[in-house]
Amino acid sequence: MIDKTLVISFSGGRTSGYMTKKLLETKRKWKEVLVLFANTGQEHEKTLEFINNCDQQFGFNTVWLEAVTHKDQKKGSTAKVVSFETASRDGKPFEGVIEKYGIPWSKAGHCTRELKENPIKNYLKERGLDKHNRVMAIGIRADEAHRKAKSADLNNFIYPLIDWDIEKEDILSWWEDQPFDLEIPEHMGNCVWCWKKSYIKLVTVMKEKPEAFEFPERMEKLHGKTGNIAQKMLNNGVLKGQKSMKFFRGFRSVDDIREMAEEGTDVFIDEHYARLSGGCSEECQPNFGIDDGEDSNRIPALNAI
Ligand code: SF4
Repeated sequence: MIDKTLVISFSGGRTSGYMTKKLLETKRKWKEVLVLFANTGQEHEKTLEFINNCDQQFGFNTVWLEAVTHKDQKKGSTAKVVSFETASRDGKPFEGVIEKYGIPWSKAGHCTRELKENPIKNYLKERGLDKHNRVMAIGIRADEAHRKAKSADLNNFIYPLIDWDIEKEDILSWWEDQPFDLEIPEHMGNCVWCWKKSYIKLVTVMKEKPEAFEFPERMEKLHGKTGNIAQKMLNNGVLKGQKSMKFFRGFRSVDDIREMAEEGTDVFIDEHYARLSGGCSEECQPNFGIDDGEDSNRIPALNAI
């Protein structure tokens, strides 16, 4: 593989952090190793600190990217290079994506595509890298192997953690022996209020860090009808009685999550964080094989609602 560049998609979680550290130990096998992190602007500060620690202490030399959207053009997000110091903490990259595509939700998961997959893909293109001269390592573990892209071989993706048979517990044990770790519990990982999280995690975030919901609440108010998907879904009556789009499962809004928290729904306990036993952060890991990265604004199948 000495003639190929190894590209590592680092999400800022323990799993891809472990994979990156191990792959960098085999650096000489590759022409070059490129570690990429795509910042959404809604990550926990501790996630950004973790990546910075990986850079400082493990020499990851991560390229920090942020999405640049092109609102009136049929063009997917490109990328700009930022740093730990200049990375957005106010959601600007995410807001750009919502201004163009609307609120992401369970039937329209364009945030991963436009905040991570397309910026990474376009950054690589600018550097003259494509599936012919690069190999891309994706941090999916053996216990989540079903998430592997069907087109992996075709696109030159590799899944080292699956090949090494690495599971959650292996990752956690390894981090326990390192000089630093990701200092947040599982429910605070990725975008802190991520709409893919379970209700119990969202309620826990709402109780512990309600300010994390200021951004999605503002987006629901400003952009409830933004984007082709929202326009078509709301206008054709598929979403019976709904006047605007909402982020969360079961078509629930930030306000609904707040109500659930006030009603006293159970909170999520990260047992690993509490130093009791296992449990590991989920990751929003771009899986470049799900979509070809076109400027897709497709309408979900109506029977999927
Ligand atoms: S963490 Fe969640 S909200 Fe953030 S980009 Fe990934 S899927 Fe979207």
